[in-house]
Amino acid sequence: MIRDKKEQQMEQEVSLIDVHAHLDEVSDLSEALQEARAAGVRGIIAVGVHLDSNKKVLTIAEGNRGFVYPALGYHPWEIRQGEIEGCLSFIRDHIQECVALGEIGLDYKVKVKKELQWEVFGKLLDIAREHQKPVIIHCRYSHRRALEMVKERKLQRAVFHWYTGPLELLEQLLAMGYFISATPALQYSPIHQEAIKRAPLEGILLETDTPVSYGGKEARPKDVCVTMQEVARLKETEPVTVARKTTINAARFFQLPLRCPGEQG
Ligand SMILES: [Zn+2]
Repeated sequence: MIRDKKEQQMEQEVSLIDVHAHLDEVSDLSEALQEARAAGVRGIIAVGVHLDSNKKVLTIAEGNRGFVYPALGYHPWEIRQGEIEGCLSFIRDHIQECVALGEIGLDYKVKVKKELQWEVFGKLLDIAREHQKPVIIHCRYSHRRALEMVKERKLQRAVFHWYTGPLELLEQLLAMGYFISATPALQYSPIHQEAIKRAPLEGILLETDTPVSYGGKEARPKDVCVTMQEVARLKETEPVTVARKTTINAARFFQLPLRCPGEQG
């Protein structure tokens, strides 16, 4: 009986924000959003990766106001000569409609030349600085350079998504007041687990990177509950504590119009 009551209470209190989902790539979107709400998700940051994706993200957010918040981006995998200006000017034209720039960053595993990646990422960071938008950063094998570029521009708000970089760099970015985000890969990725163990809850956001597959199963925003459970396990704390703190972090980071449980004022 006692356990039931505790579980019931937890369900009522849990309120989560998935800070990184590719909703434009989800085929069963309305079902996925419904399931997320039922699971206690109160907000989703939909990230864009190229021109078409950014257009779709804005449309999805428009149809789900107060629940889906759009981020506009240009993923390093998607950079193509000839398409760059079109993508950047769309972002500039719609900057007031988005809560963040993302997904943007560097990826040294892809064929796109590093110089071109630096140029595009640099321009996107300049747009973020000019309009005081937070940035959602992808950086594979490029954590050091990505952090340097963000620091050079003195950006106030940055989240290093699905952090798997060196721990020494993690300390630096946390000291700058930047965040890392946790994914369901915490179920099996030692390097991601180490980073989440090391960072305080005050520096962590939760996400799913929907529709990425974890252990052969495509994620949906409701799986941010899995991320919460995993963070709680690693931190040896209650899931509800993780939910409360990370939701407050996300609401502040993205300046979402949410009143969070436990937040004063
Ligand atoms: Zn992503």
